[in-house]
Amino acid sequence: MVDEASKKQPLKITPPAERPSDFFGRKVFGKAAMKRFLPEDVYNKMCDVIDHAAPFDPAMADAVADGMKQWAMSLGATHYTHWFQPLTEGTAEKHDGFVEHDGQGGMVEKFEGKLLVQQEPDASSFPSGGIRSTFEARGYSAWDPTSPVFVIADTLMIPTIFIAYTGESLDYKAPLKKALFAVDRAATAVAQYFYPDVKKVITNLGWEQEYFLVDEALYSARPDLIMTGRTLLGHESAKNQQMDDHYFGCIPKRVENFMRDLEIHALELGIPCKTRHNEAAPNQFELAPIYEECNLAIDHNMLIMSVMKKIARKHGFRCLLHEKPFKGINGSGKHNNWSLATNTGVLLHAPGKTSMDNLRFVTFIVETLKAVYDHNGLLKASIMSASNSHRLGAHEAPPAIISSFLGKTVDDMLDHLENSTDDVITVKSKKALRLDIPSIPELLIDNTDRNRTSPFAFTGNRFEFRAIGSEANSASAMIALNTAVAEALTNFKKRVDALISLGEIKEKAILKVLKDDIKYSKPIRFSGNGYSEEWKQEALRRGLDCESSCPLVFDRYLDEASVRMFEQMNVMNHFELQARNEIKWETYIKKVQIEARIFGDICMNHIIPVVTHYQTLLLDNVHKIQQVFQPSEAERLTANNKDIIREMSEHESFIVENVTRLVEARKVANVIESNRERAIAYHDTVAPLIEQIRYHVDKLEAIVDDELWPLPKYRELLFII
Ligand code: ADP
Ligand code: MG
Repeated sequence: MVDEASKKQPLKITPPAERPSDFFGRKVFGKAAMKRFLPEDVYNKMCDVIDHAAPFDPAMADAVADGMKQWAMSLGATHYTHWFQPLTEGTAEKHDGFVEHDGQGGMVEKFEGKLLVQQEPDASSFPSGGIRSTFEARGYSAWDPTSPVFVIADTLMIPTIFIAYTGESLDYKAPLKKALFAVDRAATAVAQYFYPDVKKVITNLGWEQEYFLVDEALYSARPDLIMTGRTLLGHESAKNQQMDDHYFGCIPKRVENFMRDLEIHALELGIPCKTRHNEAAPNQFELAPIYEECNLAIDHNMLIMSVMKKIARKHGFRCLLHEKPFKGINGSGKHNNWSLATNTGVLLHAPGKTSMDNLRFVTFIVETLKAVYDHNGLLKASIMSASNSHRLGAHEAPPAIISSFLGKTVDDMLDHLENSTDDVITVKSKKALRLDIPSIPELLIDNTDRNRTSPFAFTGNRFEFRAIGSEANSASAMIALNTAVAEALTNFKKRVDALISLGEIKEKAILKVLKDDIKYSKPIRFSGNGYSEEWKQEALRRGLDCESSCPLVFDRYLDEASVRMFEQMNVMNHFELQARNEIKWETYIKKVQIEARIFGDICMNHIIPVVTHYQTLLLDNVHKIQQVFQPSEAERLTANNKDIIREMSEHESFIVENVTRLVEARKVANVIESNRERAIAYHDTVAPLIEQIRYHVDKLEAIVDDELWPLPKYRELLFII
């Protein structure tokens, strides 16, 4: 019976104490905080630096540092640090207190401009690929005033670039900023064909971060997860993602609490979190903010990855960012939604209303395609890593071949232009331009038109680069993509200007060059199923890069075309590229080496002893049956157990034999001097052995008494939440 009193009670919803708009950016020294803590003239100059890329005037460094210190102290900060992105995974920081002697035996909180602007951390332990020999261990970290400082706990965090004493970049941010500058310059020049008032082109990036959550207690019982971030063994769970019941499903309460906590922290740090949902695999989730300027978006992504890990622990979880933590179910990626926009608010990759807008739209689409076609191997190299290679090419993620899906509308339009005659454009007067491009409807591409298998898909007003790994620093992909697009646009402008100087009308010149480029870059366009075997054959015929061995894919950075592009666009020189590749190969080796070591350890110290123990129990049983029953009956009764014992022995001997071979393979590889050759040896001989042995371990998991099995199983890791 319904209680009358409660029936009349209105539904009580307690409004949260604060709304996100109240606390967004609270921990960031953004414009509002600057206005409060900086003198007016300094504030105005800082706005110029941030909004118009004006150079930072060193004379105001002390005033800015002092304002920052006051603000940070008002939030309880006692320390500061330069925060940078070395060529490891993640970020680096070294905290110093604000305190200085006051000269009278006491202390005073002080933060000077020179400490804000530049520091010389002892950088000898960061990877440098040979750029910095140990006797020249100094590296500089230099403040990036375009990414605002923020406070985490008691520390003022200052985003910086990190370069060698001799000027080469040792991080992701320095070349990223150069690539963004290059694409700004090239795209602005091209945008001015259409809109003469454009002064600047901004790169937008909206990332979508996928991740897994695992109960902390279970995680702690898996040495492979602790050491490598992924499970190196584990039999498939009876139920995994085949019911499609997790994707977009109801978010479990415990996870929702984690997400809420994470979002509050992220919003306070100025990260504009918007979307959260369950992903395809069990215990897999996604978080996506609203897109931002690329450099800032990448800082925010690096920040969120570390905040996620911290908050997860607070909620009794471990957050797994590895691209492939579990075999047999989806791995995690990080879609990078990328587009260019003018300072006047035009989204260059979105269609517009007038013919001129649409010619501009086609220009930026086609030149992006040309960039991706010219450097498809390099773009793959930019997203490749030991961990991401487990995901690429599997039937869940982009294939290890870069291609672009445009959707029917844009595809048809490009075909139409390619086959059109010159009178596709009629220019009567400056104002009366008629462009025979079929009018472009709002490109709200519906789900049927969303090819999920494409690594570089056009999605209405942006491209979605989907091959990036969940754990990666997106800067790697963004450096390659933006530099390639800068190069394509620079060449495009050269060719158009050459035609104009010969007397061609601008619009016709543009179209002529576009037609050439549409034809030229056709092989990169692909609308079919990227997972199919036929596509691999077709891609080979088209001359696309189909290499899938991680160490060999890295070679693409040193191709003549890549080096020329990076040098001409002033992003990196040959020396820097070579050094970075040494680091990539070394990192690859170390990752596989650690996996091989811990895997061998688990096999010999966890699995084999348990298997032997179980075998002894069964043997004991066989023996006792034989003692109690007549031989003929005993034969029948022990048959099953004998079979099991035999099967276990076979798996066991395969494992023991091959763990020895695994150790040998490592020894052989370790004496190879060249990083590249050593990485190839690890790829070709060590990594495949792990997979082969795993097969037998997983078989044993399905045989051995559940009570005895020493590690949490997939069904526990993936379903206990
Ligand atoms: P999906 O359906 O692929 O999950 P969403 O609508 O959730 O796509 O958006 C994914 C990301 O793309 C978000 O960060 C969003 O802000 C970003 N995004 C939207 N438009 C653009 C654009 N023009 N350029 C760059 N990023 C964009
Ligand atoms: Mg998405």
